[in-house]
Amino acid sequence: MAAVVVVGAGVGGLAAAARLAAAGHRVTVCEATGSVGGKLGWYERDGYGFDTGPSLLTMPEVFEDLFTATGGPLAAAVTLRRLDPIARYRFADGTTLDAHSDEAAFLAELDARLGPGTGEQWRRLDARARRAWAASEQPFLHNPVSLPALAGLAVRRPAALAAVAPGATLRGLGRRHLTDPRLRMMLDRYATYTGSDPRRAPAVLVTVPHAERRFGGWYIPGGLRLLGRAIAGRAAERGAVIRTGTPVAQITRTPGGRVDGVRLADGILLPADIVVSGVDAARLYAGAPAERPGRRGARPLVDHPASRRRLRRLAPSLSGFVLLLALRGRTPGLAHHTVLFPADYDAEFDAVFGGRLPRDPTVYVAAPDDPVTAPPGDEAWFVLVNASPHARPRSGDSDGDGGSSGSGSGDGLDWDRPGLVDAYARRILDLLAERGLDVRERLRWYQAISPADLARATGAPGGAIYGVSSNGPRSAFLRPRNRSPVPGLFLVGGSAHPGGGLPLVTLSAKIVAEMIGPA
Ligand SMILES: Cc1cc2nc3c(=O)[nH]c(=O)nc-3n(C[C@H](O)[C@H](O)[C@H](O)COP(=O)(O)OP(=O)(O)OC[C@H]3O[C@@H](n4cnc5c(N)ncnc54)[C@H](O)[C@@H]3O)c2cc1C
Repeated sequence: MAAVVVVGAGVGGLAAAARLAAAGHRVTVCEATGSVGGKLGWYERDGYGFDTGPSLLTMPEVFEDLFTATGGPLAAAVTLRRLDPIARYRFADGTTLDAHSDEAAFLAELDARLGPGTGEQWRRLDARARRAWAASEQPFLHNPVSLPALAGLAVRRPAALAAVAPGATLRGLGRRHLTDPRLRMMLDRYATYTGSDPRRAPAVLVTVPHAERRFGGWYIPGGLRLLGRAIAGRAAERGAVIRTGTPVAQITRTPGGRVDGVRLADGILLPADIVVSGVDAARLYAGAPAERPGRRGARPLVDHPASRRRLRRLAPSLSGFVLLLALRGRTPGLAHHTVLFPADYDAEFDAVFGGRLPRDPTVYVAAPDDPVTAPPGDEAWFVLVNASPHARPRSGDSDGDGGSSGSGSGDGLDWDRPGLVDAYARRILDLLAERGLDVRERLRWYQAISPADLARATGAPGGAIYGVSSNGPRSAFLRPRNRSPVPGLFLVGGSAHPGGGLPLVTLSAKIVAEMIGPA
């Protein structure tokens, strides 16, 4: 039996704690904030309640597997509700499209809304995505990333490797298969599920819409936040101790370099044989920028110069600007998820990856039909737009010890600039109105969560949602590894392999638990 300290009670950390406790280890989770779930957060006020992070659950069997492996079925812990449509898209020309979860219904919808033949184009693309999924699921999602795995695929299954199309971009794949610009736009959007730019993200991301339809898009009545609580509950049932309000300041090491515990912010030392970090890898290896000019940034949790240098070369993923809207009355016929596209998607990517505010961003609305989210007869909207990560102006953000950019890119925006958040919130409300959803008269209040707020709340440098971006064909291989080069230190969560999003961070925990093995 090993003494394991898990740093951070995000979903990756909690899932690792549940698995390792179930495997017989002595597990303590140290979480900096007062609650569990990390980015899977919740905000409530005046009878309204909002999931502040994830609004769509995909690949439920990943959670089924976690719960079954740790002592009982998922259904005993949370209820899942399948969504249909998964999302309603509205394009700049006013066309709307329901992304039905049923394949035949979706293809028929494409033909009816975008023109005959578009359904067949998507079917062919999806057939390719199915092959790419079959080729990549086991080697890349369920196992540690490795170039030998890719090489093995090339030798044993060259056709499968061709479906994965290493070297091609998601945009390029869309151009090859799809003729309608609106359909291409819909495909492009899946790059943002990893915080990336479709013009540079790998074509294998075509597996994301495939998995979404194949395994469904789901909601949890009561809020997705219940999933975080359920995993924490399971970890505790299996004996893990979860300590909230317990920030870790440093991962300590023996003179030989192996981890031997953590030092808490109050100076107390917790000994450990193994440390599992669920903290953003940029924060772990490179620290975090200073909050205010002239102040020191946060030190790295562990000193490993090679990992720090490696991370600095990688671009952070996108962040998000969130608006929580407390609305009077209800919107008839509103889908659970609505995506309102702009005319010029590339202008949005240029802006958000260039550290600027897009003038005309895509707006995503999640409006769950769930009594816990609003008083009777009213509704609560979670509105999300892609955003550049937060970065302080250069002059004030350096501590001289690598804390200046955290994740290695200067392409951020100073979200703490006075007036910016409220001005942008008003702009989003106007955009919603221009695109057919005018709620300005029905607005009781709004709460904005900027990338800077997200960074402060979760410790993700700049508020990058998915750690590093997947921009570039080799991105999967550059992502921080689950087994760190520091002996005894393992990484889970969205910034590590296999990536961000609830199912993938849960898979990272499985990979790490298998690496560590039973007690
Ligand atoms: C706005 C938004 C929308 C999203 N939408 C979706 C969606 O629809 N579907 C989906 O699947 N995913 C979505 N995601 C992504 C998903 O939320 C994340 O990928 C996932 O929750 C990240 O989990 P994680 O394990 O990486 O930990 P995180 O959630 O990043 O948690 C890390 C934890 O570590 C703690 N911590 C940090 N530093 C320390 C320290 N020094 N000591 C102790 N604790 C520390 C933090 O407080 C935090 O609790 C969204 C995210 C956001 C922000």
